[in-house]
Amino acid sequence: MLLDRHWGGLRGYGRCVMLILELTDIECIKVLTRLGLGRLACSHNNQPYVVPIYFAYRQRYLYSFATLGQKIEWMRANPRVCVEADEIINHHHWMSVVVQGHYEELPDTPEWKAQRILAHELLQHRAMWWEPAYVVTAHLDATAELIPIYYRIHIDHVTGRRAMPDPVEAVEPVEPTTTQKSEGWLKSILRRMRFVGPGRSSH
Ligand SMILES: Cc1cc2nc3c(=O)[nH]c(=O)nc-3n(C[C@H](O)[C@H](O)[C@H](O)COP(=O)(O)OP(=O)(O)OC[C@H]3O[C@@H](n4cnc5c(N)ncnc54)[C@H](O)[C@@H]3O)c2cc1C
Repeated sequence: MLLDRHWGGLRGYGRCVMLILELTDIECIKVLTRLGLGRLACSHNNQPYVVPIYFAYRQRYLYSFATLGQKIEWMRANPRVCVEADEIINHHHWMSVVVQGHYEELPDTPEWKAQRILAHELLQHRAMWWEPAYVVTAHLDATAELIPIYYRIHIDHVTGRRAMPDPVEAVEPVEPTTTQKSEGWLKSILRRMRFVGPGRSSH
């Protein structure tokens, strides 16, 4: 679905150069399968917390690995999480996917053995996938035993968006004014919306 030209809601303010499209559920899954690096958000006592993680997608789950630390403690206390992953080629070419889901730990017990092996096999394809989790913990206490924690995020809901250059604008180039040339796109939009301007503060 076409969401809007330029940044949503700014239609009519200046030249439109970019289309933002919604990804289907299947397209979102393809992106998650391909990417493998994202930002995991969890929260505890009303405080959000975001960290980068590697993950591997399989059948509505994102599998990942960690050692014990804040994010694991927080997800144990509150399993509701969010994962964002994106691919940014440039300002006009990007896609991002947002997952809402819940945390499931894969404990080292016979019952979960098959899932732990699956997680291990999926994550092996990521070069040095285990390193960030181990190194971060190791610097805190070099003598502590590092216990690997495998977990997965069940995907309850997923959305995705993709930006591409507006083909209409691409065939009808408009020469920017001197002002537009000299300022960035964000400043240009804000100036048009009168949040920022020469000698003007927000109002
Ligand atoms: C590209 C990349 C991939 C990664 N992949 C993984 C992965 O697959 N698995 C994994 O466990 N870890 C991974 N990490 C490391 C991860 O982002 C966390 O730093 C790490 O997991 C420790 O998180 P924690 O909650 O256990 O922190 P703790 O060791 O418990 O420390 C908590 C404190 O450290 C701060 N902190 C923790 N991590 C960061 C950070 N990254 N940046 C700034 N401050 C931080 C917190 O704000 C908090 O104050 C990756 C990091 C990068 C950059």
